[in-house]
Amino acid sequence: MLWPDLRYLHCMDALQRIDALRAELHAHNHKYYVLAEPSISDREFDALLEELTQLEAAHPEAYDANSPTQRVGGDLTDKFEKVPHRHAMLSLSNSYNAEEVAQWAERVQASLPGEDVEFVMELKYDGVAISLWYEERALVRALTRGDGAVGEDVRTNVATIRTVPLKLLPGAPAALEIRGEIFFPWDAFNALNALRRESGEQEFANPRNTAAGTLKLQDSRLVADRPLDCMLYNVDGGAMQALGIDRHSEAVERTGTWGFKPPQGRSLEVTTSVDGIMAFVAHWDKARHNLNFAIDGIVIKVNRYNHQKRLGNTAKSPRWALAYKFETERARTELVDVKYQVGRTGAVTPVADLDPVQLGGTTVQHASLHNADQIAKLDLRIGDMVFVEKGGEIIPKIVGVDREAAHAEGLFAPPSLVFPSACPECGSTLERVEGEAQHYCVNFADCPAQVRGRIEHFISRKAMNVDGLGKETVAQLVDAGLLRDVADLYALSADQLLPLERMAQKSVDNLLVSLAESKAVPFERVLFALGIRHVGETVAKLLAGSLGSFEKVAQASVEEVVALEGIGPVIAESVVSHFADPAFREMVARLVAAGIQTEVVEEAPLGDALEGEVVVVSGVFTTMSRDEAKSAVTAHGGRLVGSISSKTTMVLAGDNMGPSKLAKAEKLGIPIVDEDTFLARIQS
Ligand SMILES: [Zn+2]
Repeated sequence: MLWPDLRYLHCMDALQRIDALRAELHAHNHKYYVLAEPSISDREFDALLEELTQLEAAHPEAYDANSPTQRVGGDLTDKFEKVPHRHAMLSLSNSYNAEEVAQWAERVQASLPGEDVEFVMELKYDGVAISLWYEERALVRALTRGDGAVGEDVRTNVATIRTVPLKLLPGAPAALEIRGEIFFPWDAFNALNALRRESGEQEFANPRNTAAGTLKLQDSRLVADRPLDCMLYNVDGGAMQALGIDRHSEAVERTGTWGFKPPQGRSLEVTTSVDGIMAFVAHWDKARHNLNFAIDGIVIKVNRYNHQKRLGNTAKSPRWALAYKFETERARTELVDVKYQVGRTGAVTPVADLDPVQLGGTTVQHASLHNADQIAKLDLRIGDMVFVEKGGEIIPKIVGVDREAAHAEGLFAPPSLVFPSACPECGSTLERVEGEAQHYCVNFADCPAQVRGRIEHFISRKAMNVDGLGKETVAQLVDAGLLRDVADLYALSADQLLPLERMAQKSVDNLLVSLAESKAVPFERVLFALGIRHVGETVAKLLAGSLGSFEKVAQASVEEVVALEGIGPVIAESVVSHFADPAFREMVARLVAAGIQTEVVEEAPLGDALEGEVVVVSGVFTTMSRDEAKSAVTAHGGRLVGSISSKTTMVLAGDNMGPSKLAKAEKLGIPIVDEDTFLARIQS
């Protein structure tokens, strides 16, 4: 479909075709993702989507935030709008056993004398709560819980989730608020972690936090790459009653006909007894391990809306609903060995090797032991039968020893584990800093584990962002003596790299280019990349912002650093002691000689070409990053604002600018300036 506009000589034809394609694609999307009954092939679907994309590009006036093309993301968000919830997003009270459920059921019955109370049970998804607002059957907002009263509108990100309808099917009410949970399915989560492992990035600990973090990403295209899922389970009772729907279970069924994903299998049941509730709980306590997503319990609601209304809410939670929380899963297995891993700061973490055991649907082979205190407290011996628990975390932990099965005291009992006194990697003494639980290897300069860790940190995405150097290659280079510290990276040559495993000409070229490019990384990220203990991204930004250069940071005293806003004595001590170390200073000097950024680039006014302009910057640029474009605006006397309003005097538009912004600017008659025009203007 190269020339779609030739097929639609008249604009009206094109607009009609756009409408038809959207309706058709919405319907196919629903069949594929919600009903799992596709009626056309992926290829046919893609062809229709491509046709629509091209038509929309040729007809920007037909922009619709809920077009099926918007599923792929695109709009960059500076920040999410804060929006008050129409009804507070309450949390549920918890229960942990049958007795507590029975007490709640009794209280409910006592408040509704003479009524036949029905209960409805559903799964308690372990994800992020969301409130979706539809107007004229189109998704207009997606609010996070926030503080319960005010949430953040993450609609652009939620629109990438295929099971969330952008347009409701005919028959749905025009205006609707529906609440549910967004979660990361296990298969997608594991695949994402596998990718991160390969690229040397830190793996995500659990699907819930990853789902929450994903929803807050500024770039919805990244969100579109992460296949989140959504289950909706809460509609406003008053609104449903107006439609003649009297029960929650009926409402859920009805939402399935409006385009929402209906509950799967036995995931919703109605009962009138506590026994019925507990049978449902018992079923899912076992069956949850076969689900492709995490649930942490069951939600029990009073089914009839008029009953819910009579019961009402407390300040914190509805009286007509109760969460039943599953017990944390626990398994019993043999402790085979304990290994000690040394991180980039020298911190030593004990990791238990276990006889593989099934826990929470996965095979567990390793568990965290945290630190020496934990080992001493548990009084572990190799060969002990231990209890392992898994909260929402990927890495389970050992919580106790089965004393009944523990080794008999006596001649043949192995000794209790003692935390080592020497580094398992380099043999240096381990020290424990007062007030900290961790032990550290003191061989800061030469411990291979620390050197590897520091290099991996230095090249990571948020630091110097060097591509093409995996964990194994770093280890090879350290073992070969080619990398003793991060400054050695800039001395690497093709001759040294080519003989290594996995290093073909092309990957060597890429690595060298990437290293050269990293020299332009701003000073604050260089400071972060050095891996100074306690200096994370935020602290690095603070230090760079207030001190401005390596020279100033290196000369600062503890008192001067503590005086900076947001920096405490522990951080200050760490910064000053690093720069007091001659080896560290020498390494920094070599980095400086290699040409990395050593100071914050001053944003002195360069001109007044934009004097009086109120500017919105949007989209992606060819010759500069978005941040650079913004700096250029202020450097030439312009004032930056985040969103387009009648006060805006200019929109600096790059590629991929969100169509909604474009439409708004056009509507308000604000001049839209492209990159070339902008550059010409500030250079004049
Ligand atoms: Zn060591």
